[in-house]
Amino acid sequence: MALSGLDIYKLLPKTNCRECGFPTCLAFALSLAKKAVALEKCPYVSKEAKQALEAQSQPPIRLILIGDDKNKVEAGNETVMFRHEEKFHHSTAIGFIIEDSLGDTDIKQRVDKIGKLHFERVGQQLKTDLIAIKQAKDAARFIDTVKLISGLTNAGIVLMSEDKAAVSGALKILANRRPLVYAANSQNITDLAALAKENAGSLAVRAESLDIVLELTKKAKELGVEDIVIDVNTKNQEAKVIGEFTQIRRQALKKANRPLGYPTIAVMDKLNSYEEVIRAGDYIAKYAGIILLHTFEEWAVLALLTLRQNIYTDPQKPLQIEPKLYPIGNTTESSPTLVTTNFSLTYYTVLGEVEASKVPTYILSVNTEGMSVLTAWAAEKFTPDKIAESLKKSGVEEKITHRNLIIPGYVAVMSGDLEEKSGWKIVVGPKEAAGIPSFLKNLG
Ligand code: SF4
Repeated sequence: MALSGLDIYKLLPKTNCRECGFPTCLAFALSLAKKAVALEKCPYVSKEAKQALEAQSQPPIRLILIGDDKNKVEAGNETVMFRHEEKFHHSTAIGFIIEDSLGDTDIKQRVDKIGKLHFERVGQQLKTDLIAIKQAKDAARFIDTVKLISGLTNAGIVLMSEDKAAVSGALKILANRRPLVYAANSQNITDLAALAKENAGSLAVRAESLDIVLELTKKAKELGVEDIVIDVNTKNQEAKVIGEFTQIRRQALKKANRPLGYPTIAVMDKLNSYEEVIRAGDYIAKYAGIILLHTFEEWAVLALLTLRQNIYTDPQKPLQIEPKLYPIGNTTESSPTLVTTNFSLTYYTVLGEVEASKVPTYILSVNTEGMSVLTAWAAEKFTPDKIAESLKKSGVEEKITHRNLIIPGYVAVMSGDLEEKSGWKIVVGPKEAAGIPSFLKNLG
């Protein structure tokens, strides 16, 4: 929990010497609590107070990096329990487990297929993040598999092995790729922590109870590992996992419980694809930093990426596209022109239906600050004045010879006013985007 101005004041010299530029120590403390001034401005802070205040300035959940600088995956550094309080910062990293017991050809095919799992949705590129290599055979086979996979992909790597020799050999191959070593328990933590520290990797700790997790994270830190990830290892007991993840997040954010201030990881334990997707979806919502799956079927991954995108967008800032004129298909001077808002979901829904109609069409997207049609209309962001102005600025008048503008059916009420303001003939289109294809085909 953040220290208040008064808490900070108690740690200051209280001499009111003014050297920091503030009239009193209390004024300096209040400013420091708001992070409006640096602690260094006071030359008289004691070493102990400095340590306490610096610890306080660390994020409550540590940011963990996996992968090289170009392809790094970030987990942690979250600041709120609920998305509406601010936003969630680092979307759950999604990775796929490949066992070293598979043949090389099979492994190559899987890595290739995983590499192709990227999708475009409402103007954003959605992709997966990690490949987890799981040891099922001896150390030599594990190391060979790591060599093979790391040569095929730039994705972040998770090493799933508790075998010191196997992890050690694999880490040598992955220099500069900051792999995650999964997972240390009470028996092997000394060995794995030493390896993770030596090779600048992060370390997952795994235990069934939070008490043991606490012991393990403390031990890992004592052994010099800063970047830690927590697995509560509850063998697919979904409600228990969510309960523990929630508790970890709450303890880290509300109680400043530093040994629990790390991102969490959920590893699927050979469920069928449907169960994996349902559980992974729940863990994305609460509060997994990383999820490792066995399934990499497109339908499953798209569902999870879509869910993740929705949860990790900023609720204060709707997804928006650039407000401008978009020609769809081989437009000509007689192509119909539709107007809509710049809310991504609205635009891409309209776009999908226009494309489905196969009628080349112009879509004019008006800047409504990312609001949908009715919301923007009610908030006076989608008004006849704004639409008339957008028509002028868009340059559409130079591209087409007619002056017919199709507006969404829900705002038919603005037809007369818009006609007056724009000088265009207003045609009321369908209320729902689903009606666009038949509407465009029947325009004549
Ligand atoms: S410099 Fe330090 S001791 Fe002096 S007024 Fe500022 S906070 Fe207080």
